[in-house]
Amino acid sequence: MKKPAPRKKTAGPKAKTVRKPSPKSRTAKTTARAAKVAPSSKAAPALPGFDLKSLHRHAEDKRGSFESLLRQWVEIPSVSMDPDKKPDVDLMADAAARTLREFGWDAKVLPTRGHPMVFGRRHVSDSCPTITIYNHLDVQPGGAKEEWKTEPFVFTQQGDTYYGRGTTDDKGPALSALFGASYALEHGAQVNVNFLWELEEEIGSPNFEAGIKAAASELKTDLVLVSDTIWISRKRPAAPAGLRGLQCFRITLETGLAERHSGLTGGAARNPLTELCDLIGKMVDGKTGEVKIPGFYKDWKKPTKQELADFAASGFTVKNFMEAHAFKSLRSKDALDVMTRIWAKPTFEVHGIAGGYQGPGVKTAVPPRGEAKLSMRLVPRMEPEKTLALVRAFVKKHLPDAVIHAENGLRPYEGTTTGPLADLVRSSMNFAFGRPPVFVREGGSIGAVKTMEDVLSAPVIFLGLSLPEHGYHAPNENYDWAQAKGGLAAFAKLFHEAASLPRGAAKAALAAKKGR
Ligand SMILES: [Zn+2]
Repeated sequence: MKKPAPRKKTAGPKAKTVRKPSPKSRTAKTTARAAKVAPSSKAAPALPGFDLKSLHRHAEDKRGSFESLLRQWVEIPSVSMDPDKKPDVDLMADAAARTLREFGWDAKVLPTRGHPMVFGRRHVSDSCPTITIYNHLDVQPGGAKEEWKTEPFVFTQQGDTYYGRGTTDDKGPALSALFGASYALEHGAQVNVNFLWELEEEIGSPNFEAGIKAAASELKTDLVLVSDTIWISRKRPAAPAGLRGLQCFRITLETGLAERHSGLTGGAARNPLTELCDLIGKMVDGKTGEVKIPGFYKDWKKPTKQELADFAASGFTVKNFMEAHAFKSLRSKDALDVMTRIWAKPTFEVHGIAGGYQGPGVKTAVPPRGEAKLSMRLVPRMEPEKTLALVRAFVKKHLPDAVIHAENGLRPYEGTTTGPLADLVRSSMNFAFGRPPVFVREGGSIGAVKTMEDVLSAPVIFLGLSLPEHGYHAPNENYDWAQAKGGLAAFAKLFHEAASLPRGAAKAALAAKKGR
């Protein structure tokens, strides 16, 4: 049952003038701005209320309601990785579904084998395109309390900044999208807007694929819009056009049953830690990070000239990067090289080596076994299974009695920077923030993205609102009103313009991707 959406307090007269455009009127009118940014796509019909002034006035009217919802949500510690917080994760799902209903969506909590998902549907017409917005409402643990200036799960407002775990990752952006979508639909945007909110993103989405497969018929959509990414600098909007994938694995080696005196056996005894170090040294150049496994780079799609130009215009600096992550030195001092390394190149990382004596001083024993904890970040066109097969073959050749224990891989995502879908992101961000976004890549992985593209057969685009200073996963995580307000406008504009996407644009984008 669809409940009536909440009425705006102050915008009565404007709301009355809203009229839904007839299909015929949705054609050739062109707004100057859209034409400037996206010359190839037809502009949206000029509905009243989709100018920046009206949207900003609406945002200011709704600010109290936005802040009170963000407070409620942040104060539910929906930490998906903590089994003790399971009731809070469930509470979060119920609260989110309730909020969706209050805004006029049909909403339900979809159970999975792990934490649930929340799905909200608002249907305007069968002839309209359907867009599904993805966010996640689970959060990282609060972390070291002494590093927080406020309590992680107490929403604290200081001026225009909102502190608390989950404010920027990803509850604040989820609410910005909801307020923007609600405005767009109240003002006649001709799109069906669905929400899909996950509660297991921070633990690698273990049940997401099964969950959306089970509900696939309800979740049918033309396009998916993900809002869970970070700009490079506040000065310039950024949208990712690719995400790295991930393959974690351990290599273990056992050469004996117990540790033995190195004076009695050393020299003849095989040392599993030394052999693992030797193997790792054969796989990766520790200084440069260059991977030496044959075929590793074969499927790597290097960034194009245009992508590199966008990277260069993103506002990234080596100095800020080093400060943000407290580095003393880096493998490279060149900004473009650093960006390429963190966004567009695969990695081979050693996360830990375990085994042998770990207490104070040195114990002269030869350990019987050792373990290396490793991962590879993968970039578009690299498949986790295929890359892992290269590693297996390499290990088999160089250290045949070592054993590989692989975890589930996350596939990289290759987005797009051209065509009507990219133009939609460009024009809505340009409208709301005064500058078109640069298309960059994300070095991290959102497993759900590739899963949604495959299971829902829909292309995925991104409209992220977080900033580096918002502190993803860090102490003093925060979100701010400027991003919330701009985000509301960007989302509203995007839904308005999505109505005039050429028929079949989403399918064509997907087909073009498969064909390349
Ligand atoms: Zn996130």
